[in-house]
Amino acid sequence: MSAKPSSSPGFHLSAEQFRRHGHDAIEWIARYMENVESFPVLSQVKPGQIRSQLPDSPPQTPERLEDIFADLDRIILPGITHWQSPGFFAFFPGNNSAPSILGEVLSAALGVQGMMWVTSPACTELETHVLDWVARMLDLPEKFHSADSGGGVIQDSASSATLCALLAARERKTDGWTNQNGMAGSQPLVAYGSTQTHTSMDKAVRIAGVGQENLIKIDVDDSFAMKPDSLEKAIRRDLEKDRIPFFVCATLGTTSSTAFDPVEAIGSICQKYGLWLHVDAAMSGTAALCPEFRWLNKGLELADSYCFNPHKWMFVNFDCTCFFTADREDLIRTFSVVPEFLRNPASDSGRVIDYRDWQIPLGRRFRALKLWFVIRSYGIEGLQHHVREHVRLARLFRERVENSELFELAAPVRLNLVCFRHKQGDEATRRVLDRVNRSGKMYLTHTRLNHRTVLRMCIGQTHTSQRHVDDAWQLLQEAAEEGPINS
Ligand code: PLP
Repeated sequence: MSAKPSSSPGFHLSAEQFRRHGHDAIEWIARYMENVESFPVLSQVKPGQIRSQLPDSPPQTPERLEDIFADLDRIILPGITHWQSPGFFAFFPGNNSAPSILGEVLSAALGVQGMMWVTSPACTELETHVLDWVARMLDLPEKFHSADSGGGVIQDSASSATLCALLAARERKTDGWTNQNGMAGSQPLVAYGSTQTHTSMDKAVRIAGVGQENLIKIDVDDSFAMKPDSLEKAIRRDLEKDRIPFFVCATLGTTSSTAFDPVEAIGSICQKYGLWLHVDAAMSGTAALCPEFRWLNKGLELADSYCFNPHKWMFVNFDCTCFFTADREDLIRTFSVVPEFLRNPASDSGRVIDYRDWQIPLGRRFRALKLWFVIRSYGIEGLQHHVREHVRLARLFRERVENSELFELAAPVRLNLVCFRHKQGDEATRRVLDRVNRSGKMYLTHTRLNHRTVLRMCIGQTHTSQRHVDDAWQLLQEAAEEGPINS
């Protein structure tokens, strides 16, 4: 039984206790960063193993922070899948960095709820300013800047950004009628994505009342990119049936294989038929930091909205999605509801941004702080350096697959993702996946492309270097040859 914590008025930690444990926490974080490679990348616990170690009831009396920290190591850490490990190649990166962690801690300390300008002017103004920086860093069209008709806002996720875009498009198409009257009685609104569009689109049409049946999935070409002629045909078919096409989601860097939809051609079709074009560049958008990868922005001037996730590949810890709109009034018309208790002279003056009107929740965290810390601490050159290095490593890995007798490529490699499979087929591919993940030395995930199981090697962790990619390749070879993987 541990000793009682020293009491302080109202059960709070004293400033002195906070200072001491705060130092401990930063020390814990620094040690974790130094040692993250020593943990199995994919947590090896069984379902229920973590909960079985937690007491049934919460503590009646205060516990010592030393004891809580000890349980963090003993109970929680074994149940962590280490997204920050340089051996993490699964899904997509969720990379973070020291300046991002510091920004996050400081945001928690300030505890700002930035729903309106007046609730913390710096929270709003820093966000507007940093998102203008980001628009410039990625060379996005002028209309996405706050000095023009649009501007940027930080959302929690690309899923929320897509939903916001869909709702704003719905209101634009129905002249605000749907917000007031609901969907009943109107002709069906129809949205379009490709067969490779992220499932956040499926969620969005369900939530927005558009309905899954009215999300049309357009077929893709050999590189898994949407076929614009198929899109146009689908729109015309729907118009003939008196349905109302209103929204297209194009993807820059699809989740399965990093395919790039032809935004320029899709944008022209959207303009011709009056559809909102949303561009989802969740992971790959970060690549536009480097001028040599800006081909991916082609056609963005035709988009109504655009989002990407610094919380994937730009060293900002989750959550941080940058969502840009070409016309902020579309968002405000869709989301603004002003009760008396939120009224204030600054908002009434029309001279400030109230970001509660650009998103679904009312409340919002001070997320711009960590983005600001990261951009300032790395500088554009620092961020470019890491993106280039990840792409170089992916190309190196692609060459190994191309020259391999065991594996073959399953999709074009455009940036930092390599899709590949065992030449002997799905069963062999799955066996490799299972073996490397059980080794604890790396974590890979799979997808299905052209009805085949495919492994996805996604390189984007903050500290992944060539050594980690070399080790991963060695491990994959051993797994494919049924060699001694754990020796
Ligand atoms: N869009 C794409 C292309 C993605 O790859 C992902 C995540 O993998 C998402 C959207 C969803 O991202 P979030 O978790 O930010 O909603």
